[in-house]
Amino acid sequence: MSRLLDRLQEEIDALDALSLRRRRQIAETACAPEQTLTLAGVAAPRTMLGFSSNDYLGLAAHPALAKAWAEGAALYGTGSGGSHLILGHSRAHAQLEERLADWMSPFIPQARSLFFCTGYMANLAVLSALGGADAVIFSESLNHASLIDGARLAKARVERYPHCDVAALDAQLASCDAPVKIIVSDAVFSMDGNIAPVAELLALAKRHDAWLVIDDAHGFGVLGATGRGVPEALGLRSERLVLVGTLGKAAGVSGAFVAAHRTVVDYLVQRARPYIFTTAAPPAVAHALLASLALIEGEEGAERRARLLARIAQLRSGLKAVLPADGSAWLAESPTAIQPLIVGDNARAMRIMAQLDGHGLRVGAIRPPTVPAGTARLRIALSASHGEGDVARLVDALGEALFRPAKEAA
Ligand SMILES: *Cc1c(COP(=O)(O)O)cnc(C)c1O
Repeated sequence: MSRLLDRLQEEIDALDALSLRRRRQIAETACAPEQTLTLAGVAAPRTMLGFSSNDYLGLAAHPALAKAWAEGAALYGTGSGGSHLILGHSRAHAQLEERLADWMSPFIPQARSLFFCTGYMANLAVLSALGGADAVIFSESLNHASLIDGARLAKARVERYPHCDVAALDAQLASCDAPVKIIVSDAVFSMDGNIAPVAELLALAKRHDAWLVIDDAHGFGVLGATGRGVPEALGLRSERLVLVGTLGKAAGVSGAFVAAHRTVVDYLVQRARPYIFTTAAPPAVAHALLASLALIEGEEGAERRARLLARIAQLRSGLKAVLPADGSAWLAESPTAIQPLIVGDNARAMRIMAQLDGHGLRVGAIRPPTVPAGTARLRIALSASHGEGDVARLVDALGEALFRPAKEAA
């Protein structure tokens, strides 16, 4: 046994030596821009202003959702008691699925939806169920890990296509004679913030008789006039569309859904193992999500989206004014809440992150292999609950860090 343990420990030590060991911060307070965080065993609790949450609309600690959650628990108890096929499927789950199907019906004829415990599981389910042995999955090269793992779980052959390269994908599809073709892409890329060319992908799906699976984890709630995400923002409509939306980010709760033509959803209920062989999420979660959807599509949601857009514009114009003229740091072209500041090498990204930390600001540094070599970045994620003063603090601190490295300043 100790030899097995030693092997694991060596690997952890090697990560440590490369400064790649991951550590978890403990959040002592609710999700909000200002949070008290503890790095267990390393540092005492500190109150930090964070720019790395996925709570894009600031709903994760909204009192109306906490109230709906409590109400759901009073109505249904805490546990679902079983899987969706074996008594775990409550009225709250069914209502949520009806609402989400309604929401997505402008984009998908005869839409139905299926609720999952997490987006990770939804992606495993869709790709493993649709991607049988006679299928080929065409996977965008910057896809989220859950889509990569879903493609691995599928019996289908997997072909990657270059980032946003519609012409290359067209050629790959043309030279494929598999009876089932599946194009799969993130709608908003999680490390870059840019939006995939989804309308063009849909045109390819039509031309080559393929499914188009779109993971809108970062667009749902945020993009489109009523927050329905990339399909609403781009005005898509097709029975080939299989949409995955996550409900733990902008929706502020937990879970995910697949929306698709009713035949696809019926099929998933029969065949998707990550749907079938797991306990249904607590009904109270679905009950709280109904309240979240009402917020998102209503006036408050519109106000929150407008506030988020104002913070995005403020950050972009503020940073552009302080970026070094030599082009050694630049802001990626992103219209979304994800705003990466690319600074080049790992050491520089880590140094800037440490300097921000000194100012009580938390921004994630993303390094290769998560992103291509030479494009280490600070991944700034904005939320409707950030104030104008919060963004101004970040812009000031970044301006200083980019021009006055800590060593020289000291
Ligand atoms: C977060 C995320 C997921 C996973 O969703 P969870 O509900 O957190 O499991 C899937 N895809 C993308 C692109 C994501 O960003």
